[in-house]
Amino acid sequence: MRVCKFGGTSMADGGSIKKVMEIVRRDESRKYIVVSAPGKRSKADTKITDALYGCFNALDGGDFKDKFAKVTRRFCDISGELGLDIDISAILDGVREDIIKARSRDFTASRGEYLSAVILAAALDVKFVDTAGLILFSKDGELMLEESLSRLRAALDGVERAVLPGFYGSMPSGEIKTFSRGGSDISGAIVASAVGADVYENWTDVDGFLSADPRIVPSPKLIECLSYDELRELAYMGAEVLHPEAIFPVRRAGIPINIKNTFHPSAAGTVIVSNVRHMGEKSVITGIAGRKGFSIINIQKEMMNSEIGFARRVLSVLEEEGVSFEHMPSGIDALSVVVRDEYLEGKLPSLIAALWRATEADSIDVQSGLSLIATVGHNMTSRQGTAAKIFEALAEKHINIRMIDQGSSELNIIIGVDTFDYEKAINAIYTKFSVD
Ligand code: ADP
Ligand code: ASP
Ligand code: MG
Repeated sequence: MRVCKFGGTSMADGGSIKKVMEIVRRDESRKYIVVSAPGKRSKADTKITDALYGCFNALDGGDFKDKFAKVTRRFCDISGELGLDIDISAILDGVREDIIKARSRDFTASRGEYLSAVILAAALDVKFVDTAGLILFSKDGELMLEESLSRLRAALDGVERAVLPGFYGSMPSGEIKTFSRGGSDISGAIVASAVGADVYENWTDVDGFLSADPRIVPSPKLIECLSYDELRELAYMGAEVLHPEAIFPVRRAGIPINIKNTFHPSAAGTVIVSNVRHMGEKSVITGIAGRKGFSIINIQKEMMNSEIGFARRVLSVLEEEGVSFEHMPSGIDALSVVVRDEYLEGKLPSLIAALWRATEADSIDVQSGLSLIATVGHNMTSRQGTAAKIFEALAEKHINIRMIDQGSSELNIIIGVDTFDYEKAINAIYTKFSVD
């Protein structure tokens, strides 16, 4: 039995939804279908989720009516293209009233997935099962996995086939809460785990997980098989194909993920399992991923290394200021902290002041404009010279390395480069490993 999640491009219009329907109907084992809101039909198009965030922002005195009319038109077009026998205008009128009443950002955004699922359920003539009340969050907004699994299991017991909306669940108060962006992948993984699926199929618009971002590297190689650990590293570091948190529910249940292309369903896609070490010879690296938007906070103090508790004081400040960090490279009398820019927004002055107080450092400076690039692969452990090759690739292109970190798992090497070198650096590393 399979659980399938179809992403935004798969649900973008009537034409793509017909492909989704063909895929679902072709195989009896595709029982539970989780969907995203309609995504972009072209590069210049707007995702429904973004349009809905726009509606929410326009609720107070803005042009909410016009903005919501665009959302309505999109869903009416889809319903028309599919020739559905539902009163979509009445459904959308109801949703508009609910949004005005709820005045909640998450509720507004969630209606994209809700409407997408209502439409697909009608088109396939199967049951619509709402995830509100089934996927549960605590009042602090934390996912309650065990509770969600048992609620879903009970709700789907005896249901032959169903369509469920991705991206959201609800809190004990009944209020709707969404995951972070791209979160329908997590909903699909939770449903797969709840029903004990044999495989979690994640349908998108590429043939599978590619060894680099196709928007940066032209025609990167497809990865046929990768481990949950490799996937986690790549997804966390920016390979957006799958939400990095979608791995946990399926990994603990031992359910493989298969990434597939709605627009090329015969392609095998990428299979993600717990262990790929015995899958035969593979290239040294599995993939490269990266993110822009980091800053480094450099702290220097004479004799820092002999000062017991120095790092703890730095970390306590970060904790008190509510800032999480990515890396903490250190020298003898210097320690740096790499932080996402978004976590520093509005907090930097108080964070720096608190660091001065806590460390009595000789100097503290902040450098922004950093990008991180992770080179990931299980085979890196057993091969010598992987790091040398990365550095060589960058040196040949005159790219300055601003940070180096190798995870203790030896599954990845992370380097920091100036953001203006980001694309050039990824291409340089990719080319180096693909020619040898
Ligand atoms: P969906 O709407 O189906 O969830 P996403 O847009 O979230 O799809 O993810 C698929 C997109 O991820 C691809 O279209 C591609 O542009 C991008 N992408 C980034 N890195 C990679 C990678 N390493 N392999 C494949 N796709 C990638
Ligand atoms: N529609 C949501 C988003 O755009 C969730 C998803 O597509 O997974 O982020
Ligand atoms: Mg996605």
